Amino acid sequence: MNELAEFCKNLKKDFTPKIKNTREPVKYWSEIDIIDNKPSDAFVIIFRTKGCSWSIKSGCTMCGYFNDSLWENLTQEDIFIQFEKAMDKYNGEKIVKIFNSGSFFDDKEIKSKTRIKIINELIKKVDKISVESRPEYITNEKLAEIYDITTPKNFEIGIGLETANDFIREKSINKGFNFNHYHDAAKKIKKYDFKIKTYLLLKPPFLTEEEAINDNIETVEKIKSITDIISLNPTNVQRNTYVEYLWKRNQYSPPWLWSIIKVLIDSKKIIGEKRIKCDVVGGGSYRGPHNCGKCDNEIINKISNFSINQNMDLLNIKKCECYETWLDQLDIEKFCFGSQINSHRKII
Ligand code: SF4
Ligand SMILES: [Zn+2]
Repeated sequence: MNELAEFCKNLKKDFTPKIKNTREPVKYWSEIDIIDNKPSDAFVIIFRTKGCSWSIKSGCTMCGYFNDSLWENLTQEDIFIQFEKAMDKYNGEKIVKIFNSGSFFDDKEIKSKTRIKIINELIKKVDKISVESRPEYITNEKLAEIYDITTPKNFEIGIGLETANDFIREKSINKGFNFNHYHDAAKKIKKYDFKIKTYLLLKPPFLTEEEAINDNIETVEKIKSITDIISLNPTNVQRNTYVEYLWKRNQYSPPWLWSIIKVLIDSKKIIGEKRIKCDVVGGGSYRGPHNCGKCDNEIINKISNFSINQNMDLLNIKKCECYETWLDQLDIEKFCFGSQINSHRKII
């Protein structure tokens, strides 16, 4: 294990989960998503599982999902009870998204019989099902099980590639897999005619704002023919993570909202008819992507509307005075060799 992987592991050595209820999902809610290119209601469930196997072994530098995991075994019955509990609040949404702060296809989190039972329940009710997984758990055998019981075109699998650059994925994100692993998994998913959603990370640690933007755009160029949809995830500072460790030392700042706008505009030009969306988690806060504070809400709303309707006009935003400061940072940061104070808003 390299130094960064070891560090990420050690950050969690004294961690104990606050919630230990094996029958309580982390969260469930309703939101808007897209099916057949049209906005539709979506029901989102986050299961509380043992936790992502990679997180238990070491973990990605920005990922605090483990804060909601149990870190101990639970039964498959527990997971199904969580599902039933969430589904009590299901209100006819056409899309159901299942997240488990890890991998839907990791048998250590959810076993095959539970996966099938859940999908079998859902296909009676919904038009589209979305799950996510690390590539190493996406096998022909597991895909075939799902293929037998679903309509493939409405089953979507998300993979957190983060970047197409293996150096950045290893040295900044500590992701634990490389581009070829992603590509191999994507080929398997395509073979079964399922849809692929690829998550990209905007601004991993150690990259300047400009490097982070360029990395996203280069990644979009590289995956445009592989993925069906791109989900851009700007980094937010989650508890007990390596990113938080740097942030508290003023060595990391989440991206500017202007950077998100730039990535969305340039990416959309590259992917054409394909979709790119962005959920600005923690937007406008110190821990999340932000601008000066005055223009944040308006921009976040536009990003969220763009994510639904893909209208580029929404990204043509009136420039606030902080826009010049953002441009200055893009110009200057590369000459500072890490000495620039990494905050574009005062830290309290
Ligand atoms: S980002 Fe995904 S793969 Fe990485 S630790 Fe979190 S859940 Fe696991
Ligand atoms: Zn501003």
